Amino acid sequence: MSEPDRHLSLLQGQAREWWAQVRPHALDVDRDPTLPTRLLHLKGLGRLATLQIPPAYNPDPLVIAGRRFHLMTAAERVAYYEEAAWGDLATALAAPGAPMSGVLVDALGDREQKDWFYGRLLTEPTWTFFALTEPEHGSDAAAMATSLTRADRDGPWYLNGTKKYVGNAVRGRLGVVFARTGKGPLGVNAALVEAGQHGFEARPVPTLGLRGAQLGTLTMESVEIAPERVLGRHLSPTRRGMAGWLRTFNLLRPVVASMGVGLARAAHEYVQSQRRSLTRDEQHRLDALARRIEGVRRLTGRAAAAVDADITAGQLACMAKLRAARLAEDATVAALAFFGPGARLDHPFLEKLARDARGIEYMEGTENIQRMSVFKDLSRGGHG
Ligand SMILES: Cc1cc2nc3c(=O)[nH]c(=O)nc-3n(C[C@H](O)[C@H](O)[C@H](O)COP(=O)(O)OP(=O)(O)OC[C@H]3O[C@@H](n4cnc5c(N)ncnc54)[C@H](O)[C@@H]3O)c2cc1C
Repeated sequence: MSEPDRHLSLLQGQAREWWAQVRPHALDVDRDPTLPTRLLHLKGLGRLATLQIPPAYNPDPLVIAGRRFHLMTAAERVAYYEEAAWGDLATALAAPGAPMSGVLVDALGDREQKDWFYGRLLTEPTWTFFALTEPEHGSDAAAMATSLTRADRDGPWYLNGTKKYVGNAVRGRLGVVFARTGKGPLGVNAALVEAGQHGFEARPVPTLGLRGAQLGTLTMESVEIAPERVLGRHLSPTRRGMAGWLRTFNLLRPVVASMGVGLARAAHEYVQSQRRSLTRDEQHRLDALARRIEGVRRLTGRAAAAVDADITAGQLACMAKLRAARLAEDATVAALAFFGPGARLDHPFLEKLARDARGIEYMEGTENIQRMSVFKDLSRGGHG
């Protein structure tokens, strides 16, 4: 085994141990989305709160066999989240910490903003949000209407608008909100926002799958934002808002792909464990599914390595994400077919996996959006 593979396999082994404890609670989390906050005593879930923080700001990384893990690279996150999704993806998405917002702060924050943001995460388990999607602007986030305006050059900014389907919107104590300070792509910016401020309201959105993730709507009416909370002030306009979210998505798309792989593996293993004898045709189908899972898993690993080497090299990540979303949906439905017409009633865990799998398609851009992104890159002469 190569040195990087050994590093990742140690992390994956640890993650598997942690998330095996969460799995027995998965159906309870589905029934009661407030449960994840009461599962923090389970190892792994609470630990995530102080991971995914850059080494310069985190004196307490995860140490396994003498190695330090910060979960800041796509490769480490992929290893971790495949196991977390195998355990329970909804609980993984409901964990404290800054899986998305922390990546953006790392890309766009100045020293003082990073000290403040990561410092808060280290003080106590803190949930964060990353608010980009709007009710009228989902896939076309660049057309966002949320505004960040100010009356005079040195005064505070004011945030107005609505964001939808935001992970940890209700649990989140702080996070990042994207808003428009002017027209066009360069007019998009992001600010650090604390929940509970005057004019800030968070409400849950009921969903069919991933209920524990508690997606929500954020409504902001004249929420005051101090000038020092606007990210990227020290950067040129081309490296601020949109550039920041594109970097975030490039890094996180392989991670979402690994979640799809984890769900598919969970469905495959469920069939293996619950069906004692299989016909030859069934065995053939199950083996074919295992091969497909392994194929997407390898593609995901390559996509993670590509963005770790160059954060702008996101095309493999798009491909892995779209293949994994399709895989998760197909694998969970195929697994149900092994249990006959009453499968959804008789096998609630599998039924939940099939509902959860539908969420992968929407995270970090739908299949159509990934296809368009790959097409644009190829038509510009990229190599995919
Ligand atoms: C589990 C989960 C977690 C999420 N977490 C967050 C979060 O933390 N923060 C956040 O801001 N958002 C989050 N989202 C929202 C997610 O980013 C959006 O759902 C996604 O961007 C799609 O937007 P939409 O739902 O409005 O769908 P739409 O954009 O309305 O898309 C609906 C359909 O139309 C297709 N479509 C749209 N535009 C085009 C086009 N130009 N060409 C071809 N087809 C098109 C899409 O592919 C899709 O099939 C989350 C969603 C889920 C499911």
